[in-house]
Amino acid sequence: MELNIGVIRGDGIGPEIVFEAIKVLNKVGEVYGHTYKYNELLMGGASIDVHGIPLTDETVAIAKSCDAVLMGSIGGDAKVSPWYKLEPSKRPEAGLLKIRKELNLFANLRPAVLYDELKGACPLKEELTEGGFDMMIMRELTGGLYFGNRETKQVDGVLTAKDELTYNENEIRRIAIRAFDIAMKRNKKVISVDKANVLDSSRLWRKVVEEVAIDYPEVTLEHMLVDNCAMQLVKNPKQFDVILTENMFGDILSDEASMITGSIGMLASASLNDTKFGLYEPSGGSAPDIAGKGIANPIATILSAAMMLRFSFDLDKEADAIENAVSQVLKDGYRTIDIMSEGKTQVNTAEIGNLIAENIK
Ligand code: NAD
Repeated sequence: MELNIGVIRGDGIGPEIVFEAIKVLNKVGEVYGHTYKYNELLMGGASIDVHGIPLTDETVAIAKSCDAVLMGSIGGDAKVSPWYKLEPSKRPEAGLLKIRKELNLFANLRPAVLYDELKGACPLKEELTEGGFDMMIMRELTGGLYFGNRETKQVDGVLTAKDELTYNENEIRRIAIRAFDIAMKRNKKVISVDKANVLDSSRLWRKVVEEVAIDYPEVTLEHMLVDNCAMQLVKNPKQFDVILTENMFGDILSDEASMITGSIGMLASASLNDTKFGLYEPSGGSAPDIAGKGIANPIATILSAAMMLRFSFDLDKEADAIENAVSQVLKDGYRTIDIMSEGKTQVNTAEIGNLIAENIK
């Protein structure tokens, strides 16, 4: 199979970690007989340096013509980088918001995985996390409170602010379908998180999710109130497979879930639209403090590439091969500095990339 992939290397550690992900993808290609067409795309600071803006329309058009986009991270140190002297709409992060909008990326997918080998990095008690955990948070990304009408005005002489939370049934249905599809590739359990005891938008959310569930008889559906979910994540994280939720709840819960996994350098993410297309990137930023030192952890980007194979190309065996290779390298005791612990072998960005590529079976 030939895979047509857009590649945004980005800024800071972005080029270093994307280089390792491509190394691993190429090894997967050799072992499983796939070839790649990589389309290099500029975004963020790298695009500002060349074009004066963080994302050109031409780049968006090329991204749209790809089957998926693999991205590093964009942005610099706001205190010193000249990019942050520009007006907000021309700064690196504006490129990210524009590409998400242009590509209609309404579903954000963040796995939170605690590898047994890294359980020391988890702030929870050991008995709660024995054996590790593996959940996927599916957050609606383009609706809800963050995109509603808002205003601040005087009402009867009192300064008053208002934010609207709106969802229509189509917005809920399309993301619920994605969540159930993904559950079918995992442990077939969806926990839909809402606040249906208070909010109308949550009651509609629950109704539509139940309608979608009818088409997935193999998947178990549970509903959980968001306040309870926040507690359950730290009380019994092993109970979760796929968490499906709206924009603001997902924003908060996905950060909570990432905290209990340990290092930011391990966390992959994907943003999807209603086709097979997706933008795959590590959850962390461009880490300007360690850029160019060759010590960044590329695993989040490598695992994002695995998500790309699974969700945009339906190459489940190949995605498993990457995830197994990462587990094996951790089991063998190799660590980048951010996840280093006593008795393990410290390696740099390129070395851990080589080890993961060698373990692709
Ligand atoms: P950051 O995630 O870049 O860094 C936070 C800390 O985590 C730093 O100490 C960094 O060294 C460490 N870290 C991050 N990724 C790592 C990795 N792969 N390996 C080892 N250590 C890693 O967050 P920040 O410092 O707040 O932001 C830096 C820049 O990144 C800013 O310009 C911000 O806007 C941008 N940013 C971009 C994205 C994106 O591209 N999607 C996301 C978040 C932040």
